[in-house]
Parts: sequence; structure tokens; C-alpha cells
Amino acid sequence: MKQFEYVKAGSTQGVINALAQPGTKIIAGGTNLVDLMKRGVTAPDKLVDITHLPLKDITATSGRLHIGTLALNSIVSENSLVQKKQPLLSMALKAGASPQLRNMATVGGNMMQRTRCGYFYDTTLPCNKRQPESGCGAKEGYNRMHAIFGTSEKCIAVHPSDMCVALAALDTTVIIAGKKGERKLAFTDFHKLPGDTPELDNHLAKDEIILGIEIPDNNFADHSYYLKIRDRQSYAFALVSVAVALDISNGVIRSARLAMGGVAHKPWRLYDAEKALAGKQPSVPLFEQIARGAMQGAKAYQHNEFKINLASNAVIQALKVASGLVPA
Ligand SMILES: Cc1cc2nc3c(=O)[nH]c(=O)nc-3n(C[C@H](O)[C@H](O)[C@H](O)COP(=O)(O)OP(=O)(O)OC[C@H]3O[C@@H](n4cnc5c(N)ncnc54)[C@H](O)[C@@H]3O)c2cc1C
Repeated sequence: MKQFEYVKAGSTQGVINALAQPGTKIIAGGTNLVDLMKRGVTAPDKLVDITHLPLKDITATSGRLHIGTLALNSIVSENSLVQKKQPLLSMALKAGASPQLRNMATVGGNMMQRTRCGYFYDTTLPCNKRQPESGCGAKEGYNRMHAIFGTSEKCIAVHPSDMCVALAALDTTVIIAGKKGERKLAFTDFHKLPGDTPELDNHLAKDEIILGIEIPDNNFADHSYYLKIRDRQSYAFALVSVAVALDISNGVIRSARLAMGGVAHKPWRLYDAEKALAGKQPSVPLFEQIARGAMQGAKAYQHNEFKINLASNAVIQALKVASGLVPA
């Protein structure tokens, strides 16, 4: 591993100032960054440890749940406000990684974690995300875990997070700070599709820090479900996941939020499905129709065609559970 400098940040402004120096990176829980450094995928000159900053709070104010960037995945998933107001987030977090990892992983680090594409991790293989213009090994290679939506000629990797799928569904806002002060960004606009610049995962500038997230209150708590399909029951990334949040009253879906994970370079929100569900009574034929529509535009590669069927069935199952038609 390359030698690097390590400093503890004393303030948010100190982090922003430090990030202005090229080759500087934030470290939070370190559960992704340190792996990437050990494998030579990334080689920062300087790490700024932000774990001592006061950005861990989880508070409810004026119709929103605010979660600081340094709140640990384990703490967020067990927090009583999160469980009461946003159970979908708690379910998604508990589906991720392992208890030990969740005890180190932070909200901001989870959002910024990099793809698990094997071609990205193996520095002897081509990868446009790791080394721009070196090619995409996955496209013609072993692409079983890869994307079926929103791919480009340059990259077919998926975003690996579970938490982010729930946050995309829940209309979350990201709070960011940089040289010009604070700004807010819709969570669904935070991550990006690969396009011609797969080396960039999101719209955070190099000298910005995530301060936290805000989730608006909603009526989804009684009808939320996160379904994760993976090769092992624990400690495995999603082949496909589905986050569903429904507001149901008097047997009618008043509004719906749906997003999929494991299928695209960013959490894949199903806006058309949400519109099609509103005003309808939950039923299996409706959910089958929704799932068929959700798969429109899916494009499979040599080894991941199974994902289209899997994702479709996962959407149906998650809707059935969230609406109460079947138990979890
Ligand atoms: C074996 C294993 C299995 C896993 N399984 C899953 C899984 O099933 N589902 C899942 O969702 N995740 C899984 N993960 C990933 C895990 O959730 C992430 O590693 C973790 O969330 C990263 O958080 P961290 O605080 O450790 O980030 P770090 O490793 O410290 O940082 C990651 C990146 O985020 C940046 N960063 C951190 N905080 C900020 C901030 N506030 N502002 C700007 N940039 C920031 C860092 O610079 C770095 O680039 C797994 C990880 C491992 C090792």
C-alpha cells in the first residue's frame, strides 16, 4: 500500500479546506476505503478522519427525520424514531453486510461506497471506472452481478448499497457542504448513471462533504417492505432488491414509492409503477402488471439475463408483502 498522511478533522470547514488539496480523501468507518487502498484501486496521499465531528445525531423536527452522516448503520437501523417513522430504512440497513460491518459503516460512507464489480477491484483487468478509457471487462466478461438498466457502452456496474435503495424510495434529501457553503440535493439526483464518465459515481464535488440526510414524514410506515435476493442469506450483496412503501387507506393505495437495487449504477426508482399503483386496490393481477411494466427497457448481458425474471418476481413479492396480501 502507498504511504499516506493521516489527520483527524477538527471541524467541517477544516475538512473542506483539506479536500482542496488534490489526493486528499475523507475516511469514515473505513470499511470500503481501506479495502480499496489495500488492493491498489485507490491511492490517496492524505486521509482526513471525520469520525470525531459532531455529525452523528438522529433527530425529528418540522416534519423531517434528520440523520447525521456519521450515524452508524447499526445505530440507524435500531433507532426508535427510524423504526417508527421510516421502517423501510431500518429493514434495508439490516439487510446489508454483517453486524460487525454495520457497527463501523456510516451513512455517508454507505452512500459513497464503490461498486463491487470484479473488474473494478482487479487492477490487472480493464475497467473504465477505475482507469478511464481502459475498457469495460464486464461487458464481454463474467457479468452475472451486473446492471440491466441504465448501462452505457463504458460501464455496466451496479451500485451495491441497500440503504440507498430505501433512501431513494423515501424522497430523501442529501445535505452537502463545500467551499460555497451548504447545498441540498434530492437523493435520487445524488448518484448518476455511468454514461461517458463511469469514473464518477455521483454528483458530489471532490471538495465537498456529506453532512447528513433528511427524510420527509410520510404515511408509509404500516406498509413498507425491503426485499433482498442474494446468493447467501447474510453477508452478500443484492442480486436484486426492491424497496416498497405504500400509503393505503380504506383498501386503496393512496400513494406508492418503489425502487430497485442491484440492477443499475444507481438506485433505480420506478416512477411509472408508482403512478400506476395510485388509486388502485392491492391485487396480484395489478402487481403482475406493475412488474411487467417495470421491466420495460431492461437489457441483459451474457450472464445476467436471469435478473429480469428475478427482478420482476421480486417486485411482485415485495408489493404483496407491503400491501399485506401475504406475510413477510
Ligand atoms: C464484506 C462486506 C460486505 C458488505 N455487504 C454490504 C451489503 O450487503 N449491503 C450494503 O449496502 N453494503 C455492504 N457493504 C458495504 C458497506 O456498507 C460499506 O463499506 C460502508 O457502508 C461504507 O461506510 P464507511 O463509513 O466504512 O465508509 P468509508 O470506507 O470510510 O468511506 C467510503 C467512501 O465514502 C467517502 N466518505 C465517507 N464519508 C463521507 C462524507 N461524509 N462525505 C463525503 N465522502 C465521504 C470516503 O471518502 C470513501 O470514498 C459491505 C462491505 C463489506 C466489506
